[in-house]
Amino acid sequence: MPAKKRSTATSSKSQKPSAREQLTEYRKKRDFSVTGEPEGGAEREPASKLQFVIQKHAASHLHFDLRLELDGVMKSWAVPKGPAPDPTIKRLAMQVEDHPMEYNSFEGTIPEGEYGGGTVMLWDVGTYEPEKGGGEDGVREGIKKGDLKVIFHGKRMKGSWVLVRTRGWGSSSASSKPSWLLIKHKDGHAARGDALVETHVTSVVSKRTMDEIGGAQKKKVWHSNRASRGRGSWSNAGRDDAPAFRKKTISVAEARARRKAAAKSDEE
Ligand code: MN
Repeated sequence: MPAKKRSTATSSKSQKPSAREQLTEYRKKRDFSVTGEPEGGAEREPASKLQFVIQKHAASHLHFDLRLELDGVMKSWAVPKGPAPDPTIKRLAMQVEDHPMEYNSFEGTIPEGEYGGGTVMLWDVGTYEPEKGGGEDGVREGIKKGDLKVIFHGKRMKGSWVLVRTRGWGSSSASSKPSWLLIKHKDGHAARGDALVETHVTSVVSKRTMDEIGGAQKKKVWHSNRASRGRGSWSNAGRDDAPAFRKKTISVAEARARRKAAAKSDEE
C-alpha cells in the first residue's frame, strides 16, 4: 500500500473536483461552433504558481471579469466597476460560472447573440497567492469561508486584496451565484479613487484599445498555446482558420507530450 496516500477519513481538505465537472455550466451556455472562446478541460499539472486574469468585457453592460486559478479552472467574478486601488471603496463582484484555464489568453470578440457577446480585452494577467499561504488549499478554504485574502503579482493588480462574500445580494433566486465584495487592503500599492481602470485602458498583452480589438477581430486571430502556460501568438487569419483554442479537447497522453515539448523548447 502506498505510504503517502492521503487518508480520506481524516483529511480536512475538501475534495478536488475535476476541471471537466466544473466547466459543465460554462459549456452549456456556449455554442463552440459559433464563438471563438475555448472549450477547455485539457489535463494540467498542479500549478506551482496560480494564475489570475482580469478581462475587460463590453457585453450588454461593460464590466471586468476577475478570474483566479483553482483546481484546474478559473474561478470567476464579474466586477461591474472594476478593481479600485482605494481601500475605502468596496466593489461588487458577482460570482459567475467557472471558466477554463485556456480563457486566460482569450482576447477578441464574442459574436453578437451569443452568451456574453461583445469585445473581451486582456486587462491584466499574472500570478496570485493566498495571503496566509497554503497554495490551492488556502484558496479553496478562503472561498468556502467567504473570506479570501490574496496577493496579486500582476502588471496592474499588485499587493494585498480581499474578496468577501456578502449576504442578501442576489440570493433570492436559486440560480443566482453568491455576491462578493472586492476590496484593496492598505499597503504600498493602495491609491486614491479609481486610478487602476482609469489609467489602464489598453490590453496588457496586445496593447490594443477595446475599439481596436473589436475592429481587428476579422483580420487577427489569437492563438492560445495550451502547451506553454499563458503564452500565445497573433496571426493574420481568416475567420475560417480555426484558432488553436477551438480544437477539441486533447487526450491526457497528448497533453503530456505537448508539455514535454514545451518544456524542452523553453530550455533552448
Ligand atoms: Mn464577462
